[in-house]
Parts: sequence; structure tokens; C-alpha cells
Amino acid sequence: MFGLIGHLTNLSHAQRVARDLGYDEYACQDLEFWCMAPPQAVDEITITSVTGQVIHGQYVESCFLPEMLAQGKFKTAMRKVLNAMALVQKRGIDITALGGFSSIIFENFSLEKLLNVRDITLDIRRFTTGNTHTAYILSQQVEQGAARYGIDLHRATVAVVGATGDIGSGVCRWLTRHSGPKELLLVARDYERLERLQQELGSGTILPVEEALSRADIVVWVASLNQGMAIDPATLRTPCLLIDGGYPKNMAGALQRPGVYVLDGGMVEHSLDIDWKIMSFLNVPNPARQFFACFAESMLLEFEGLHFNFSWGRNYITVEKMEQIGSLSRKHGFRPLLEISGAGSEP
Ligand code: NDP
Repeated sequence: MFGLIGHLTNLSHAQRVARDLGYDEYACQDLEFWCMAPPQAVDEITITSVTGQVIHGQYVESCFLPEMLAQGKFKTAMRKVLNAMALVQKRGIDITALGGFSSIIFENFSLEKLLNVRDITLDIRRFTTGNTHTAYILSQQVEQGAARYGIDLHRATVAVVGATGDIGSGVCRWLTRHSGPKELLLVARDYERLERLQQELGSGTILPVEEALSRADIVVWVASLNQGMAIDPATLRTPCLLIDGGYPKNMAGALQRPGVYVLDGGMVEHSLDIDWKIMSFLNVPNPARQFFACFAESMLLEFEGLHFNFSWGRNYITVEKMEQIGSLSRKHGFRPLLEISGAGSEP
């Protein structure tokens, strides 16, 4: 049995989903109520691989909302993640993905020091961040998206916003080893970490975000922003491929300019319909098949009987592990989403 720990993108989204799921007592409540709400197991999932193998899983809503971080409610955010992890462990789930901000909170607030949750001691081997598969899918979106949207990758400048993050650094390693863009632009706020990454890669130019955006043919967005950044499309090159892997999205609003293509970053499409409800609450064109690559990682580990934390800690994603999870991804019938995003996987 696999598990998915997820959260919604903001309070109004959470209220709408609660109403749709029949949790009327949650639907009209404010942020304070969501701060108090316990995690809920809200969906049972069945997925069939193209190999014919069938597995089952559960989705647990942690009731964390990004506004909690924006308002400095850090202890609440920590409690949300730990309680959701305790719930999946209590339910005997073998391997669970920590979606979106769950793994960022785990890491940033050193939750490995707080593994005793009431009567349960969390066994972190049962959890995976899903970030290796996400980094692999984003790298595929760069390579295959460039070909589809008329960009010659070997002559292209690629910017990674959030380059020093867990997913961003994995993407940078892949691009440097496999894709060979003309130039790689590294964007984040902490300059020392950027320099360390540049040294490790042996290439890459460190730039502030505004400058990188005006120079890039392709932008991979993987910054941990709790709300989207406003982008002026007039400052972008054309053609320009923007791959937004943030959850919530890194870019605020829909960008409309001829020659600017936006993809839902870090999203996969499965070859067969999945029996579940949760993805219909996000704005994806085909909720029976399209979803987050991090969630898919726990399914891949379950298909293969690999019940351990395949992706864990920060900045340990190697190209070899991306190749390994990538080959399992193809084997079981997943592909990167390459169609232009309508409004993105957000409400
Ligand atoms: P990390 O916390 O490991 O890394 C975040 C990165 O963003 C760091 O490089 C950080 O560097 C940078 N960053 C943060 N704020 C800013 C800013 N204002 N401007 C520029 N850079 C910034 O996060 P992850 O790699 O785990 O996750 C990244 C994103 O991917 C998140 O939005 C997450 O929700 C999403 N995600 C998507 C998944 C999917 O399946 N599609 C799966 C998992 C995560 P610095 O602090 O120095 O600026």
C-alpha cells in the first residue's frame, strides 16, 4: 500500500475542496480553524501499471496551507506534517510521498529531531520526498519541451530558479551531464550556496532572477515560494519555454504572449485512468491521468516493492538515481506532461 500526503494551495481552494468532498463544517471556516484541523485520509486510490500490475493507496490531506508559513505559524506547519506522517504510519502504509511543502517543512524545521508523535515513533524509511522523480520529469520537460516548441537546446540558455534547492540542484546536475545547453543560469537568494553549486557543476552563471529571465530561452521554476511571483511577459525572449514546477505555482497569473509557452512543471501523465478523486480538485485537463511526479514516485516504489526513502534529505539527488527512477517511470507507463498549461495545476 502506498500513501500520498498532500495539501491545498490556499485557504479559498481548501474551502472549496472541503465543500466538494462533503466536509461542510470545514468549508466555511477561516485559517484558524485549518490550523486546528487534524489530518484526514480522504481518498482511496487504485492504479494499474502498463505491465498489468495493480496497486492500492491512500491520500492523506495534512490540512497545511501555505498561508501558515506566510503568517509565521511555523509550529502549526510542523505539527501538520508530523501528524499526517503519524496517521499514514498508523494505517500501516508502506511507502508515502511527502508532497509539495511537506518535505520542505520537514527539512527546514529539522523534523527528524521530533520523530515521536504521541504513541508513534515515525519510521522515516517509510517516507520519500518524491523529489528524484520530480527532478527527472522536469529535466525531461526541458529536453522534450525544447524539441516540441522549436528551441535548439544546445544553443539555448536555460535558467533554473531555485537552483540550489533539492529539486533544482538535481535538474542542474542532469542538464549539465546530459542536456548540454549553451548556458545554464543559476538563480536563488543565498549566494554562498549558489557558488557551491557552481563549483560542483563546474559551470553555470549566477544571476538575479530579473536578469536571468530576460536572457533565458527556457526557465525551470522550482523555488519554494508560498505565493507566485508576478512576471512581465514583455521582458521574456521569444520563443521562451517556462516550466513551472512550484506548488503553489512560482508564477502568479496566466502569461499570455505569442511565443511564450508555459508547461505545468513536475507533472506526469499516466497511460491508464486512475481510480481516485483528489486530482479533480486541481485544475488539470485530465485529472484521471495527470498528477504530481512526487506522488508518482511513491507509486513507482510500491510497484517495485522498494519500501524505503528513495529520495531523502536535501541536495543528494544524483543523475544515476534520476536515471533509475526514470526507467521505472517509463516501465510503468508514465510520461512528462508536455502540453501547454491552461491555468496550471491550481484552482
Ligand atoms: P527546496 O526548499 O529544497 O529549495 C527551494 C529553492 O528555492 C532554493 O534554491 C531556494 O534558495 C530557492 N528560493 C526560495 N525562495 C526564493 C526566492 N524568493 N527567489 C529565488 N529563489 C528562491 O525546495 P524543493 O526543491 O523541495 O521544492 C521546490 C518547489 O517544488 C516547491 O514549490 C515545491 O512545492 C515544489 N514541488 C513540486 C513537486 C511536484 O511533484 N511537481 C514535488 C515536490 C515539490 P534560497 O533560499 O537561497 O533563495
